[in-house]
Amino acid sequence: MLKIENLVKYYGEKKILHEIDFSLESGDICAFIGANGAGKTTTIKSIVGLIPFDGGQIFVNGMDVEKESVETKKILSYVPDNPELYGFMRGIDYLNFIGDIFSLPYEVRKEKIETYGQAFGIYDRLGESIDSYSHGMQQKIALIGALIHSPKLILLDEPFVGLDPLATRFVREEFRRLAKEEGVTILFSTHVLEVAEKLCNKVAIIKNGSLVLFGNTEDVLSEVSLEDLFVQRMSDNE
Ligand code: ATP
Repeated sequence: MLKIENLVKYYGEKKILHEIDFSLESGDICAFIGANGAGKTTTIKSIVGLIPFDGGQIFVNGMDVEKESVETKKILSYVPDNPELYGFMRGIDYLNFIGDIFSLPYEVRKEKIETYGQAFGIYDRLGESIDSYSHGMQQKIALIGALIHSPKLILLDEPFVGLDPLATRFVREEFRRLAKEEGVTILFSTHVLEVAEKLCNKVAIIKNGSLVLFGNTEDVLSEVSLEDLFVQRMSDNE
């Protein structure tokens, strides 16, 4: 579902990503972890097509994201850590706007908006303008927008930051369900290692723009916690 081959990215003279290389299968949930500034967001933005990259290739469901950018965008979703929504719109307008972009049939979008709106506890507030929402509510709208068109690949930057405990639990359970029942592939950056350990079957650790570990969570964590492993990898000098 996602194949990243030797991804290289420069900002000016500075090499930010050093030949990043890993793949995810359908139904994988992968935690992308690393220190601040390691290159997680840059990698995710490259996959989504928000920034150009300088070397390597990225494939989504077999499609080259550079050559088939519109087709790949049809099957993926991206939620940044600070979603910038159209504040003048009402929540419901924004979700319908997303529904229109993805040509979502009326009945399907109605059902999804109701289900996710209720689950996130904001269904009754969808008639209000996004500007009037709290940060967490805006994050919930962005998440609903990312889920309603049934993407095959979901990429998220710090999805759990700012969510209340009920919403956090719902997102965790929904990710599990989507991966298991619908084969959705999910890659998210996080600093919350406990969530990563409980939720993800794959883990990727990036350090200074290089991938220092990638594998099945149960294999890499057979004897140590993710926190211990992370600390160990960060202090390695390789
Ligand atoms: P965090 O955990 O803090 O979100 P991150 O792993 O997502 O960090 P990135 O945002 O990918 O890190 O940043 C990787 C590197 O690229 C950092 O050194 C950052 O300063 C640099 N960088 C990011 N965006 C730009 C930009 N637009 N121009 C120049 N350098 C940038």
